Amino acid sequence: MQAPGHIHGAIVDATLACGDGSTCRVELTVRCRTDAPGVFSIAINGFAEMAECGHRAMLTQVSVDKVSDMIIWLDADGRYVFVNRAATRMFGYSAAEFGRKRVWDVDPLFNEEIWREHWQDLVDQGVVRIETINKTRDGVEVPIEVTANLVEYKGKFYNCSIVRDITERRRMEAEWRFLNEKALQLSLTDALTGIGNRRRFDTAFDAELKSHLRSRAPLSLILCDVDAFKAFNDRYGHVAGDDCLRQIAGVLSRAVQRSGDLAARFGGEEFACILPATELEGAMRVAEGIRTGIMALAIPHAGSPAAEMVTASLGVLTIRSLDNAPRPEILAAADAYLYKAKNKGRNRVVGGEFMRPGSRHEKAGR
Ligand code: GH3
Ligand code: MG
Ligand code: MG
Repeated sequence: MQAPGHIHGAIVDATLACGDGSTCRVELTVRCRTDAPGVFSIAINGFAEMAECGHRAMLTQVSVDKVSDMIIWLDADGRYVFVNRAATRMFGYSAAEFGRKRVWDVDPLFNEEIWREHWQDLVDQGVVRIETINKTRDGVEVPIEVTANLVEYKGKFYNCSIVRDITERRRMEAEWRFLNEKALQLSLTDALTGIGNRRRFDTAFDAELKSHLRSRAPLSLILCDVDAFKAFNDRYGHVAGDDCLRQIAGVLSRAVQRSGDLAARFGGEEFACILPATELEGAMRVAEGIRTGIMALAIPHAGSPAAEMVTASLGVLTIRSLDNAPRPEILAAADAYLYKAKNKGRNRVVGGEFMRPGSRHEKAGR
């Protein structure tokens, strides 16, 4: 039925531009009015769709303004074309100030040449993720993660980047690395004496054995066992015993000074030193220094059969063989020299070279 006042009419298909850059197709019904010649009325069919487009455009705009991530458009020459509010808030520059800058004015890790390479990567790959630094107006360097997208708009290509402040992530990574390092150190440290523990010794010894097989340099090992320590504990108590072990650990760590040397608590009242690239002669001297150093602590030990003060017996082993001898076999050989030092009356150094099988070149100190 025709509405009163209208006579002629036509239905026209039309394409309308929406606020978000998209277009939508509508149907226009155009009618001439009889009561007002020259005046037309236009009815838009599909108005709901158009309203929807407008709504989408509004949401897009609000998203860009409100999101915490920064949205930054750069042209092929590294010029800032657009920045959202998060970016102006973060860096303290207004959108107009950004408009006068190029990437390397804000990013100390970029220059024109690096920018060109980055642009080429973007052209080749379409999306490029990088981590870099941007400086705020106040000169504060902010670590950022950038997801750059190559975007074509009105026939020109742009770098449309989503930029995220990763200061907190970097801080947590640093903290995590620090804690990890600390945990590793703790797992390799003897809680009582503060020197390396048995795990530290085993790890270092395995590594040194491998390196010995490669370099063919002699590798020496010292085992040190406190004499009559059970009697010391029984007489002076465990607290004094613990203190005595701490002091002895100090003597050992001071005695092994060369880089690559290691002093560790082997277990109980036993200690071990690894001396890479050290001949038997040198290792015997170091062991003797440990023995006299422990005596020099002058910790009274009335119940000792060896001396009036705390002493230790030491076994020294130097490996020259190029055989790949298993670790227990080598440790047993070093222990055999320690056992000899004990049997010969304690408070002494006995050592020799590791040979398998056959005779050993043996030396006794003190
Ligand atoms: P030897 O001269 O033959 O080495 O005699 P020893 O008494 O030193 O040897 P033994 O193996 O019989 O005793 C070792 C003692 O070391 C037993 C234990 O009471 C003591 N000991 C081991 N670990 C610790 C420790 O962490 N703290 C204290 N205070 N004593 C320890
Ligand atoms: Mg022992
Ligand atoms: Mg002992």
